[in-house]
Amino acid sequence: MSIEILDVTKTYHIGSIEVAALRGVSLTIADGELVAIMGPSGSGKSTLMNILGCLDVPSSGSYRLDGQEVGPLKDDQLAVVRSRKIGFVFQQFNLLARTPAIEQVELPMVYAGVRDRRARAMAALEAVGLSDRARHKPTELSGGQQQRVAIARALVNEPSIILADEPTGALDTHTSAEIMGIFQRLNRERGLTVIFVTHEPEIAYHTRRIIHLRDGLITSDEHVPDAEWRRADGGADHTGGERSLSEEGVGSPAHGSPPVAVGAPA
Ligand code: ADP
Ligand code: MG
Repeated sequence: MSIEILDVTKTYHIGSIEVAALRGVSLTIADGELVAIMGPSGSGKSTLMNILGCLDVPSSGSYRLDGQEVGPLKDDQLAVVRSRKIGFVFQQFNLLARTPAIEQVELPMVYAGVRDRRARAMAALEAVGLSDRARHKPTELSGGQQQRVAIARALVNEPSIILADEPTGALDTHTSAEIMGIFQRLNRERGLTVIFVTHEPEIAYHTRRIIHLRDGLITSDEHVPDAEWRRADGGADHTGGERSLSEEGVGSPAHGSPPVAVGAPA
C-alpha cells in the first residue's frame, strides 16, 4: 500500500483569513515502512496526517494511495477507503467512556458489516496483550492500556496502514516505549505501514525514517542510522494477565531504564 503525495497544499479559510497549513509537500512512503513525523506545534503535522488518512483532501496537489488518485473521490468513497485500508490512533485514545474494551474494538466491524466480530475483536485485543481486560471500561484501565484498546480497534479491520497522531503524547516514558514496541512488532510481523507523529526524538528513534515539517514544508527526511535506532520490547504477546499488569506497573524496576539501543534490527 504505497503512499505518494506530490506538491500537496492545504489552506484553511477562517473568515477572510487564509492559513496555509501545508505549502507544497511531496512524499513517498513505501509499503511496510515505519515512519515518524516531527515538527513544532502548528507546522502542519496533523493536517498532513488527516490528508494521508483520507479524513481531509488537499487544496491542491496529488495523493495516490496504492496507485489510486484520492482527490476525485466523494465522501462516501473516502469512507470506504478509510475503513478498508487505514487504522487511526489518537493522542487522547478517543474511546467511549462507558463501553467495555471488547465492544469498542468491535465497533469498526459493525460499520464495515463484518461477521464473527467477537472472535476477531478478541484476537485484536490479544495482539496488544489485553485479552484479560476485555470487559474493562476505559475508566478501569491505565493510559497505556487504553491506548492498546485504541490500537486493537485500529487493527481489527486489518488495515494496511496505521496512522497515529501523537499516540504517546499522553503517556509516561516507559509506557510510551511499550506502545512503540507494539507498533514495531506490528510493522515487523504483519508488514503494516506505520506513520506516527511525535514531539520526542526518543520516540522517533523507534522508527527507521524521520520526516521533519516546519511551516507547512518538509525540512528534512532522514534514515535513522543503526546506532540511533531503538528497539522497544514488543511486549504483550500472548503471555496472559500477570505480564500485562507488571508492564503497566509504574516504577517497576525492570522497566525503569530507557529502551536499549541495539545495533541492527532483527
Ligand atoms: P500541528 O499538528 O503540526 O500542530 P496542524 O496541522 O494542526 O499543526 O496545523 C497547521 C496550521 O493550520 C496551524 O496554523 C493551525 O492553526 C491551522 N489549522 C489546523 N486545522 C485548522 C482548521 N480546521 N481550521 C483552520 N486552521 C487550521
Ligand atoms: Mg497536531
